[in-house]
Amino acid sequence: MNAQVTGVIVVGAGGAGLTLATELALAGVPAVVLDRLPGRNLQSRAGAIQPRTAEMLALRGLLDDTLGRSIDYRLVGGHFAGLPVPLDYAAWDTRYPHPVLLPQDQLEAVLEDRLVELGGQVLREHRLTGLRQDADGVTVTVTAPDGDRTLRGRHLVACDGAHSSVRKIIGAAFPGEAATARMATADLVLTGDVDDSTTGHISSRIHTSPQGHFAMITPLANGLHKLILSGPRTMAAERDAPVTTEEVREVLQATHGGKVDVAEIRYASRFSNASRQLEQYRHGRVLFAGDSAHIHSPAGGQGLNLGVQDAFNLGWKLAAVLRGEVAEDLLDTYQAERHPVAARVLALTRAQGVVMGPQRDGGVPELRDVLTDLLRLPDANRYMAGVMAGLDLCLPSPDAAPHPLLGLRMPDVDLDLGDGEPPVRFSDLTRTGRGVLLDLAEAPLAAAAAWSDRITRVRARAISGSPDAEAVLVRPDGYVCWAGGAGLAETLTRWFGPAGRAGDGTSG
Ligand SMILES: Cc1cc2nc3c(=O)[nH]c(=O)nc-3n(C[C@H](O)[C@H](O)[C@H](O)COP(=O)(O)OP(=O)(O)OC[C@H]3O[C@@H](n4cnc5c(N)ncnc54)[C@H](O)[C@@H]3O)c2cc1C
Repeated sequence: MNAQVTGVIVVGAGGAGLTLATELALAGVPAVVLDRLPGRNLQSRAGAIQPRTAEMLALRGLLDDTLGRSIDYRLVGGHFAGLPVPLDYAAWDTRYPHPVLLPQDQLEAVLEDRLVELGGQVLREHRLTGLRQDADGVTVTVTAPDGDRTLRGRHLVACDGAHSSVRKIIGAAFPGEAATARMATADLVLTGDVDDSTTGHISSRIHTSPQGHFAMITPLANGLHKLILSGPRTMAAERDAPVTTEEVREVLQATHGGKVDVAEIRYASRFSNASRQLEQYRHGRVLFAGDSAHIHSPAGGQGLNLGVQDAFNLGWKLAAVLRGEVAEDLLDTYQAERHPVAARVLALTRAQGVVMGPQRDGGVPELRDVLTDLLRLPDANRYMAGVMAGLDLCLPSPDAAPHPLLGLRMPDVDLDLGDGEPPVRFSDLTRTGRGVLLDLAEAPLAAAAAWSDRITRVRARAISGSPDAEAVLVRPDGYVCWAGGAGLAETLTRWFGPAGRAGDGTSG
C-alpha cells in the first residue's frame, strides 16, 4: 500500500487541531487533518473563551465571526472557583475584558470554515490506529470508510483529545491524579422554571443536594440548555455509558425539587476531574497539543483555551521548520513555553475543586471566606484575573536582564500608519501569520531587511497605549521577542532563521 505523503498529519479536529491546521494552511504548509467522527461534534461542551484566546483569534481576523456566534450575554470579568467577587479582567489592558460565552462547537465551526477557505480539509471517519516514526518522518495507519490507508508526514501533531490514541500508541508518560469525581454534560430541552442564575460574572449557579447531587444549568441558543450534572448514578457510570433521561431526571428532582424537568436529551457525554499532563510534548517527530497533552476538571473554563493557545504557539514554529527556514530545535521552545502554562492550570483547577467541592471537612467554607476577602484586594484580584484570562503570560527569555516587554503579549494598540487613512489596530497587521517588526520612532532597523520574506516591517505612530520601546519585534503568535536596543539580527535569526536574500520589506 503506497502512503499518501504530506507535511504535517494533524490527528483530531477539535479546537486544538483546527487551530493548528489553519495556522499551517496560512503559512502554506501542506497538512492533513484526520478525525474519527463522521461530522463535527455538535455538543456545546466548553462554554467560554477567555480574553487571551479572544485576542489571539483577533490576530487572525477570526474574532468577529466568533463574537457573532456567541451567546448574547456579557459576563462582567471572570471568576475563581465561583467566589462572589468578580475578577477584573479590564485591569489587564485588553479589548476583550470578559469571557466570550461561546459553545465549543461554534468555535470549531469558525475554525473549520477558515481552514476550508485556506484550502484545507478535515478527513472525517478517519481513525488513526497505528503510528511509527523514523529519522525522516511519521507513517500512520488510518481506518477509513473505504478501508485502511497509510499516510506519511514529516511531523505528526496529536490533537486527539483526553483519551489520545497517539499518546497510548507511543506509550508517553501521562502522570497525575486519577479521577475522584465523575460528571456528565448534556445539551437538552428543559421544561419548568429554568433558573439560569446568571450573576454578572458567573454564568450559572450550582445546585446541590445532601445526597451528593450536583446541577449547573446554562442557557444555549435555540431553546436548549446545557446541564452539567453529577450524583450517585453518574459517579458509578462507565465512561462510555449513555447519559439517560432517568439519570438526568433524578438529579433535577434532587436539586430543583421537581420545578425543572427534562423533555429531550440532544447530546450528552461524560467527563471527570482527573488531572494529568504529559512530561514531554515532543517525542521526536510527534508533538502533542490540547487535551492530548493535559487534562483537568473544567472548573474555571480553561481546557479549550489552553489547546487553542498551544496550537497558536506551535503552528508558526512547525511551519517555519517545514519550510526549511529554521532548525528543528525551535520546536523545543514549544515545550519550554507551553508546558509550564498547563502545569499551572492543572494546579489552579485542583485548587478550585477543593474550594468549590463538597464540604467534606469543616475547613472549606472558611477557605472560601479567606479567598473571597483576598480577591477584594486590587493586587490579588489583578493577579488572579491575569491568570484566569491568560493575559499575564510572560514567555521565558534567554536574556539575563530582559527588556520589561520581552515575552509579554503585544497589546492591540491603535496605530497611525501615516498614510492619511484611518488608524489600524495592531491585530490588523498580523492576519497573514507573519512576524511583525513595528517601528514606532523611525528606528534604524536596516538589519531587518534581510528577513523581509518572513517579517512584515511597519512604520507607525501609536495612538493609544504606546509600548515603552522605539520598536518591537512581535512573533506570529503575538508575543514580543525583541524591544529595541542591540541584538535585532540575533533575535530574528533565533526565531525566524538565518537572514535571506530578500530586499527591504518596509511598508508604511
Ligand atoms: C462540561 C465541560 C465544560 C467545559 N468548559 C470549558 C470552558 O468553558 N472553557 C474551556 O476552555 N474549556 C472547557 N472545557 C474543556 C474543553 O472541552 C476541552 O479542553 C477541549 O475540547 C479540548 O480540545 P482538543 O481539541 O484538545 O480535544 P477535543 O475537543 O477532545 O478533540 C479531539 C478530537 O480528536 C478526535 N479523535 C480522537 N481519537 C482519534 C483517533 N484515533 N483518530 C482520529 N481522530 C481522533 C475526536 O473525534 C475529536 O474530534 C469543558 C469541558 C467539559 C467536559
